[in-house]
Amino acid sequence: MEKNEKAVVVFSGGQDSTTCLFWALERFAHVEAVTFDYQQRHKQEIAVAKKITEELNVTHHVLDMSLLNQLAPSALTREEIQVNDGGKEELPSTFVPGRNLLFLSFATILARQIGAKHIVTGVCETDFSGYPDCRDVFVKSLNVSLNLSMDDQFVIHTPLMWLDKAETWKLADQLNRFAYVRKNTLTCYHGVIGDGCGTCPACTLRKNGLDTYLKEIEGR
Ligand SMILES: [Zn+2]
Repeated sequence: MEKNEKAVVVFSGGQDSTTCLFWALERFAHVEAVTFDYQQRHKQEIAVAKKITEELNVTHHVLDMSLLNQLAPSALTREEIQVNDGGKEELPSTFVPGRNLLFLSFATILARQIGAKHIVTGVCETDFSGYPDCRDVFVKSLNVSLNLSMDDQFVIHTPLMWLDKAETWKLADQLNRFAYVRKNTLTCYHGVIGDGCGTCPACTLRKNGLDTYLKEIEGR
């Protein structure tokens, strides 16, 4: 039934959302991707998202969310962040509260415009990093609110909600996209695609999950 339907994937070009994109492509007849441009750590993130969607022949929407920077209490903080890596910009230390609330809401409005009932997001409660709007209970609650707000019947899918990083690699593998995800996605804070710089917090998290998964399949 879902095979005949349309979905929008919230897409950043990272491991999680790329795995979600493949998950959606297996499941829905028509899939489009949406990336939010809020002047994130690397403009490269948008370029990577663009490249992946082109390779997969998926329509890609980039929505300007630069207004988020007006809300982030980060202008000062950001200048205070120590630049310790040859002048490369570090990850902004602050996130806008409610960011995921906004992203999912805009993704759903876009879904309505293109006639999609399904929204797919890679949010995850397992490695809950303190963002309350990534919790399952929040996503379910927002789903109800969005349906009421537009008098519609959207379904927000969160395939990674209860997976840890190793299980997310496993899902990519089950979708026969392990090598693609490993090679082409961008997780690294320093903008190094694939296995990344190997030392930043994002790379460390990604690598730990990868090592755990590789060990698991070796042991079989
Ligand atoms: Zn890195």
